Amino acid sequence: MFSRPWALILLVLLVALVFWQRFSTEKSQLSRTALLMGTLVEIQANGDDRELLETAVTDAIAEMSRLEQLFSTHIPQSEINRLSDAGTLQVSIETAELLTLGQQIARSSQGAFDMCLGNLKRLWDIESQAPKTPSEKELREALRGIGPESLQIEGRQVTKQTESLRIDLGGIAKGYAVDRAVEILRAAGVLSAAVNAGGDIRLLGYRQGQPWRIGIQHPRQNGEVIATLMLQDRAVVTSGDYERYFEVEGTRYHHLFDPQTGRPARGCQSVTVVAADAASADALATAAFVLGPQKGLALLEQMPEVEGFLIAADGSRLTTSGLEDFLEWH
Ligand code: ADP
Ligand code: MG
Repeated sequence: MFSRPWALILLVLLVALVFWQRFSTEKSQLSRTALLMGTLVEIQANGDDRELLETAVTDAIAEMSRLEQLFSTHIPQSEINRLSDAGTLQVSIETAELLTLGQQIARSSQGAFDMCLGNLKRLWDIESQAPKTPSEKELREALRGIGPESLQIEGRQVTKQTESLRIDLGGIAKGYAVDRAVEILRAAGVLSAAVNAGGDIRLLGYRQGQPWRIGIQHPRQNGEVIATLMLQDRAVVTSGDYERYFEVEGTRYHHLFDPQTGRPARGCQSVTVVAADAASADALATAAFVLGPQKGLALLEQMPEVEGFLIAADGSRLTTSGLEDFLEWH
């Protein structure tokens, strides 16, 4: 038989126990940033062993930096540049894996995603001080030989089918590096983490017992969030026309190119893709953006375990059928 004060003490103890259980595994939160792959990389890891978190995050950043040395077109001796120069090369397991995944997405998007747009990207040079709009002839020249079959991949032996082609992994490499970082954190015993490479995000576990909350940015109103995604153990990547672009007489020239025309794709303002891994989400976001809202939506619907949120050029919004399960509108 309990008297009132005892019941109260028991209740307080019970509440304390519930709180302790929920938060006890995440006493420490570690955040680190690094400039890698031309973007700001941010890793947040939560847990009770500070030392373990420090080591794991340091190792994850080192791995992303190692991958940058393989995939970057800005590093003259990167593996990708050596492949572009040589025509055929025995590449690392990582490069072979990334190219194979990219080629699958190139095929399933009917060539909307293409890893051989290196010459086109150079031609536009969107990020330079004085970007210019190329002529039809220059565009045709830059697109010669591209397409899903432009690379032959046999194990680790990769061969370009056309000599002049240059490979550019800008639409998939960041996602792949994010995946590797998450694998390193997980292998080190981290249970809760978020890796963000300039908007290519992958989440490990929960954040303080709850799903992570990821805001989808309004493509035309800077800083405004349209909707929030509630996710755990998932990757979420957005491709938009609002981050790297220049304008001439009211026309926006951005960095997501339609391989059929060689010009910036016009169908979408932004595409957000949720998938199990960040490399696929990265490439699919680029592919769906290029395909435009209807075909892009159809591509994402057809992929298992993939969801998407597309904002068309006219501002209308389209979502795949399973997205509502973890979407909160604002
Ligand atoms: P961000 O790099 O801004 O996160 P994305 O992941 O969408 O954006 O990738 C854009 C990059 O992908 C471009 O800078 C270019 O390197 C590359 N790219 C552009 N168009 C295509 C395309 N159709 N297929 C594959 N890669 C592309
Ligand atoms: Mg991409």
